[in-house]
Amino acid sequence: MDQNGLVTDEIFRTDAYLQECAATVVAVDGQGIVLDRTVFYPQGGGQAGDSGVLVLADGSALAVSDTRKRKDDEGRPTHQISHVPAEGQQHLLTNIKPGDQVKAHIDWVRRHKLMRFHTTTHLLCHLVPQLVNGCSITPDYARLDFNMTDPLDKETLTDGIAALVAAAHSVVVGSISEEELDANPALVKSMSVQPPRGTGRIRTIMIGDRTEVAGRVGAGLIDFQPCGGTHVANTAEIGKVVVTKLEKKSATTRRVVLGFA
Ligand SMILES: [Zn+2]
Repeated sequence: MDQNGLVTDEIFRTDAYLQECAATVVAVDGQGIVLDRTVFYPQGGGQAGDSGVLVLADGSALAVSDTRKRKDDEGRPTHQISHVPAEGQQHLLTNIKPGDQVKAHIDWVRRHKLMRFHTTTHLLCHLVPQLVNGCSITPDYARLDFNMTDPLDKETLTDGIAALVAAAHSVVVGSISEEELDANPALVKSMSVQPPRGTGRIRTIMIGDRTEVAGRVGAGLIDFQPCGGTHVANTAEIGKVVVTKLEKKSATTRRVVLGFA
C-alpha cells in the first residue's frame, strides 16, 4: 500500500487487449501522473513501459513517453504507476490535477509488437530449456539471455518458433498460490527476475494445454511460468518473428535476439 493508501488498478493484467480506459487523476509530480486505473503497462520483467496519450478534461492530449512503477522516498517500488510525460509536454501539467477525469490511450501498434515479442520469448523458453539470466523486450527487437555453454543454431530456433506459431497454441493467464510456487521452484525460469509476492497469488502464463494430446497429459503443454507481462492470446497472432542474431555474451551466457521478419 502506498503512503496515501491508493493502489493503481492494473487493468492490463486481466485484459492485455484494452487500448483505452477512463480514469481519475490521483497525483501529479516529478515522477509523472498517477491514475486510479490504467491500461499502460509499466516497465518490468524485461518488457518496456507503454507510451500513448492522456486526453485531459479540456480535450488537450498529453503525450506519455514511458510508464514506470512508482517509487517511494526510499526508492522502493510502490503499487502505483507513473505515466511519464514526453519531452515538451511539461506545460500541459498545469492543466491537470488530482480528481480530474482523463482518458488513457496506449500506443496500440507499439504495444502489440511488445506482446508478440514477449510471447515469443516464452516459446524460446520451450525451445531452449535453460535458465534465463537476462531479458529485454522493445518494439523493435527482443533479446533473451540463457545461462548455458552449448552453442545454439539460428535456423533451428527460427523454424521452431514458426512451428509453434503455426500450431496456434492458446496463451492463458492464470494464477497459483505462493505455496504452490514454493513447492515447484522450477516453474521460475528466470535467474534475474523473481515473481512479485505479497498478495498471496502469483500470476502465471500457460501456452498450450495440459490435456491437448489425448492420453498424454502434459504432451501439449508448451510453457508455464509466472509472468506479469502482456501477451497475445494465441501464438498464431505472433506472426513472423525470426532469430536475427545469436551472441556468446559470456562463457556461460548465450544471447538470442529476435526481430520481425
Ligand atoms: Zn511473459
